[in-house]
Amino acid sequence: MEKNLKCPKCGSTNIVPIVYGMPSYELLEKEGVREVLLGGCIVNDLSPIWHCKDCQNYWGNYSDHLENGRQELEKRHNK
Ligand SMILES: [Zn+2]
Repeated sequence: MEKNLKCPKCGSTNIVPIVYGMPSYELLEKEGVREVLLGGCIVNDLSPIWHCKDCQNYWGNYSDHLENGRQELEKRHNK
């Protein structure tokens, strides 16, 4: 998980990533202990990627998430 990630609404760090797609057994186990929130199989560019357990806020969007992942891969590739 990213460092210093906080809820933009209430500032809580009690947040979980939202996972899309077919969950693996491992992910389902995590969902059981509320470490991730399953977003289901339907995802679009505006789907939120973070959920705050304190104020039930959802934020972020999936296209940013993909963009960050792409940049991270490029950084590693260029090293
Ligand atoms: Zn919050």
